[in-house]
Amino acid sequence: MKDIFITQRSETRIRDFNDGFNEKTVPIEVRTDRFTGRVSRILPFRLKVPEPSHPLDLIAEAKKSCPFCPERIETRTPMFPDEIIAGGRLRHGKSVVIPNAFPYCSFCGVAIFAPDHYIPMDRLTTDVLADPLEASLKWFDALYAYDPAITDYSINWNYMPTAGGSLFHPHFQVVAYPEPTTFQQHLISESAAFQKRNHTSFWASLLDFEKKAKERYMFSEGKVEFLASFSPGGIFGEVLVLFRELKSIDDVENSAWASFLKGLVRTLSCFHRLNLDNLNMTLLLSRTGEPGMWVQARIMPRVIIPPWGTSDVNYFEKGHDEKVVVFPPEHLAMEIRATR
Ligand SMILES: [Zn+2]
Repeated sequence: MKDIFITQRSETRIRDFNDGFNEKTVPIEVRTDRFTGRVSRILPFRLKVPEPSHPLDLIAEAKKSCPFCPERIETRTPMFPDEIIAGGRLRHGKSVVIPNAFPYCSFCGVAIFAPDHYIPMDRLTTDVLADPLEASLKWFDALYAYDPAITDYSINWNYMPTAGGSLFHPHFQVVAYPEPTTFQQHLISESAAFQKRNHTSFWASLLDFEKKAKERYMFSEGKVEFLASFSPGGIFGEVLVLFRELKSIDDVENSAWASFLKGLVRTLSCFHRLNLDNLNMTLLLSRTGEPGMWVQARIMPRVIIPPWGTSDVNYFEKGHDEKVVVFPPEHLAMEIRATR
């Protein structure tokens, strides 16, 4: 990995008003992951511990007009054409998959977890998460039966408005496409190129490296591995979930999905303990199983920075495509390892 994970360390000097304007040096660390293309600046001195941020009064107010609540779902949400989903909405357990009313691609759905309008992070159990996960997988199966050209998928999650969610009512955003998104395609192409060059999967090499290094590796559940990304996509780091040797959605057996949910809940439990009550998740799936590519997910806490409600995304990410990270990946790995 030494040609792929690049760390550049430098420092800057300032005269500190807290210390009689004496000079001090501040370390700067820039990490480049040449595989994913991600660049992040690890700046732990900028850390401000977030406060719990779910606005219970707004959540209660929003319930009065929430389209995902059971009293409105039949009349205020769209339906799929019958030839895609007979009856218009896919129901599984407590979960319902409906079309996204504001789609951004041809097959864009929403998997509503349950009738519950609000589910706090510490009540997101494997049971609660299993229904929308299984419903999403059933929706992908239905789409594939409708059109076998639709072979790439993702299950995405903006948990709470701080993470970009437009409704409090918990839901996954499920997306299927003939052509994957730019980042998903980048990973697919790079994985294939690495496999061709090295006759092994990049993800196997990464896992091997991280397990030996014991810095960012977290734990495994069955065939599912949890580790921190070297150059993460979020300010509090990123949990990278690798489905070991599983390339296609059809390779993932029920036991691996159960392992994923168990590890996800352990991750959420850690986030909750650290007041990281909002997150983005992206789970990448393919029907065909591309060479060298494994099923994988990324989970990133999202925060509002105290005391002024500052966004955790600033000009660095918007204008320079680099991430500011205040919680080093190694710390995140240590915290999640310590969570049971
Ligand atoms: Zn609701």
